[in-house]
Amino acid sequence: MTRREFLMIGGLAGAALTMGSSSEGKKQTDAVLRISSQEGIIPGASLEEKIAKMEKWGIEGLEVGGRGLKDRVKELKSALANTNVKISAICAGFEGALISEEESEREKCRRSMKEILIAAGELGSTGLIFVPAFNHQKPLPFVEARKVLIDQLHELAEYAVSCGTRLLMEPLNRNEAWFLRLLADAAAICRDVDHPGACMMGDFYHMCIEETSDMGAFLSAGKYLHHVHLASRTRKLPGQDDRDFTDGFRGLKMIGYKDFCSFECGVLGDREVEIPKSVKFLREQWSKATI
Ligand code: MG
Repeated sequence: MTRREFLMIGGLAGAALTMGSSSEGKKQTDAVLRISSQEGIIPGASLEEKIAKMEKWGIEGLEVGGRGLKDRVKELKSALANTNVKISAICAGFEGALISEEESEREKCRRSMKEILIAAGELGSTGLIFVPAFNHQKPLPFVEARKVLIDQLHELAEYAVSCGTRLLMEPLNRNEAWFLRLLADAAAICRDVDHPGACMMGDFYHMCIEETSDMGAFLSAGKYLHHVHLASRTRKLPGQDDRDFTDGFRGLKMIGYKDFCSFECGVLGDREVEIPKSVKFLREQWSKATI
């Protein structure tokens, strides 16, 4: 057997294995598209008005910012009561950075994250989104940063679970954060922490810049994936440019994804028209994503 034949047979066996496991796996049928949105994207003069629109448009999750969250718990709970909308993820809002070269910044980050985690748990959130450090936050050199991050995640993940929520680490693109760009890298960090509170998310906008395959990225993330951000290639509503979501949705179906996919993007045109149009587009892409 030549080297070429050997490699080809290996490749075919790998493909057969993938197809076999996806066609017989039960998880694929469990996957659901649950659309969420960041609060600021939905039009409306009050929170109640926004939530009423979300219900009408089939948006089931509300993602809110973490800053000052403890003072909003009551307001959010009462606005969501007797509606079909639930809090999805909490988006950042803490101070400092977990892999800053300054310990004082790391400590500030842990302290402010814990405060938000308490409120996130009270609201039944799927998790607190965090980025280990943006490029401008003077991160430690890579190897040291990874070790320092994992050490702190043991403590923070335990704290998150004690609050009834989890951590959601977000890979960005190189223009914003060199340290963490690929979903597979985030999953490897979660695996090393090995705690149910240490999880991650993926953002279709950043993935478009960094990943070689949306489907492959979500497969690598696997059980650690508990949130997704939705945005087009140009960071607008899905459907407002040529960004295709079917490859990524295929990956989500294969891993039996059931958490929220949440708008984090700008909007071209009238929000009242464009947001429901985007929801429809996403549902079409989801049904096209056959596995
Ligand atoms: Mg994002």
